[in-house]
Amino acid sequence: MQPGVTIWRCKGCGVGFFPQRLLCPHCGGGEWGQDRVHEAVIEEVSTIRHMIGQADWTPRRIASVRTAEGLSFTVGLRDDSGPGAVVALFEEGAAPYGQAKP
Ligand SMILES: [Zn+2]
Repeated sequence: MQPGVTIWRCKGCGVGFFPQRLLCPHCGGGEWGQDRVHEAVIEEVSTIRHMIGQADWTPRRIASVRTAEGLSFTVGLRDDSGPGAVVALFEEGAAPYGQAKP
């Protein structure tokens, strides 16, 4: 587990994106640097109860989150946090997750 989630920040204008874009929609730049975000607020939670082709799937929760600078993306949720909660972000493998801050 690695704390934070990788985002890409435009070297031209400094706006952050996740996932990475080919060109920056803000300034048209195409050069990116990596950055990390460590917390976000949950906007919406969904439960995935079935997955095609997965016989032993256990229901898991995903959350749509938004960072302080307005980046919005989906993470796996590791606890019962609900909308409005601030979660700490981390990565396992290449996948982003969130759980309530201690
Ligand atoms: Zn830009």
